[in-house]
Amino acid sequence: MIRRGSDYIQSIRQRQPVTYYNGKIVEDITEHPAFKIPVMTVARYYDLHWREGYEDLRAYNPDVGEESSITLVRPRTKEELQRLRNALGKIYDSYYGYFGRSPDYLNVWSAVFYAHADDYFAQIFGSRYAENVAEIYKEHVKGDWFYTHAIVAPMYDRSRPPSKWENPYIMVRVVRETPEGVIVRGAAMISTAGPYSEYIYYLPNLARDQDPAYAIFFSIPSNTKGVVFLARRGFQPRDGTGEFEYPISSRFEESDALLILNDVLIPWDRVMFYGKPSEIDQFMWHRVQLRTWLNWHFVIQHYSRLKFLAGLAIAVAESVGIDGFVNVQEKIGEILIYLYLTEAAMIAAEETGVQLDRIYRPNTFISMAASFMNMKALPRVHEILRLISAGASIPIPASLKDLENPEERRLIETYLAVKGLNAVERIKLFNILWDVIGSEAGLRYEQYDRFSRGDPTLWWAKFFSEVHKEKKSEFVKIVRDLIGQMPNPRV
Ligand SMILES: Cc1cc2nc3c(=O)[nH]c(=O)nc-3n(C[C@H](O)[C@H](O)[C@H](O)COP(=O)(O)OP(=O)(O)OC[C@H]3O[C@@H](n4cnc5c(N)ncnc54)[C@H](O)[C@@H]3O)c2cc1C
Repeated sequence: MIRRGSDYIQSIRQRQPVTYYNGKIVEDITEHPAFKIPVMTVARYYDLHWREGYEDLRAYNPDVGEESSITLVRPRTKEELQRLRNALGKIYDSYYGYFGRSPDYLNVWSAVFYAHADDYFAQIFGSRYAENVAEIYKEHVKGDWFYTHAIVAPMYDRSRPPSKWENPYIMVRVVRETPEGVIVRGAAMISTAGPYSEYIYYLPNLARDQDPAYAIFFSIPSNTKGVVFLARRGFQPRDGTGEFEYPISSRFEESDALLILNDVLIPWDRVMFYGKPSEIDQFMWHRVQLRTWLNWHFVIQHYSRLKFLAGLAIAVAESVGIDGFVNVQEKIGEILIYLYLTEAAMIAAEETGVQLDRIYRPNTFISMAASFMNMKALPRVHEILRLISAGASIPIPASLKDLENPEERRLIETYLAVKGLNAVERIKLFNILWDVIGSEAGLRYEQYDRFSRGDPTLWWAKFFSEVHKEKKSEFVKIVRDLIGQMPNPRV
């Protein structure tokens, strides 16, 4: 089944996960100012599947025997992976590379889990868990549900493992088992989109603690009894402003929330794995390689974003006549280098992927290298936009209303027009710029670009250790061979 936006809105209005905002439980998430922008953007995602020119977002899904979003179809060959990438590219072009927690993100995860039902979940945890994985995937496809996820424990004290904290139930932990399922208690630091999601995947981050009571992975409806979201302040345009003043925030503000699980019963048939913390590395890195898939997905998002940001930098530079300066050209050239490296990685990851029994997987190191590069490249692009625009993003009138006052409009047209643009076009362009580099939503995205896949320092170091394990002898041999060819002292 492929839903339309109206189906999603009706469903989320009925489901209504428990979300606190401003001291109250939100009554209607679809109408609340802090959530109605992402709700509309998710609805647009569903409608995109039915829009002319987007037919390739729909595909026959042999695993359920009906048509579904292509983002829920497991790519079995290189060509299918390319088709999936093209479809994701179209979705993210429509978001200008923002709104990374669009439904397609977790759709791909579900298809990957299903592809590894036998060779990971069954082999390591047993057939009962593999059946759960398969059933949860089919339920996901048939309902075309909007999933979000949560992994990281709240930042209580990073110097000690969560089992040594004063309260070991801050990180989600099993309290007890019952005949019906497992009772869990704890929280996850950030669950983007939680308040307007229909289902959640909770996955444990065991890099910080190997206690088996934390090693649980499950899927539950977001409105399950005991699930609570504490949402952050909304970054929607403030009163009296909207699409003119905040063209990015007004379309792509994503909400983030702390997820709390208050002694939630996870029925046995919704548990995807449990116990065996030493096997989770296989899930993230080796057998299932969730890290590869999520980073590959980010590279596609980044490619759309870098095209948009390159266009923004060039438009700004041309508008005020600075595009001929060599230092400005060098900086925009830097953006273009990140853009083309990202495009190259996207293509190379497909070309040099791995054909497995039930899925064709993109190249791990290439996907990660590009995604990890962009943890630093995207914030750098913001810095470049700030450097080249200097003060020009600041003296922009407060709102569209300034242009509707005839006297003020005359002044604006005289003093705010720029070489390449009339005053209205210039204000629109610089409103886009400010929403990218200066607004709360823009700065939140910068933080997201750095940290949404984990801390860049730790991941760059982990990249070293993973490549080191596999490639060390190959790379070091090149140097050792050269050392071997160099003359030795005679005595
Ligand atoms: C906007 C946004 C949206 C997000 N959405 C989601 C979501 O939907 N779901 C989800 O699960 N997560 C989400 N995340 C959370 C994200 O997964 C974490 O923020 C990320 O994993 C980094 O972890 P952390 O914030 O705990 O930082 P930490 O890893 O604790 O790092 C904090 C600092 O301490 C340093 N540090 C920590 N440990 C060590 C160490 N052992 N050695 C040396 N230095 C160390 C780091 O280098 C860093 O400077 C989101 C994050 C952001 C910013």
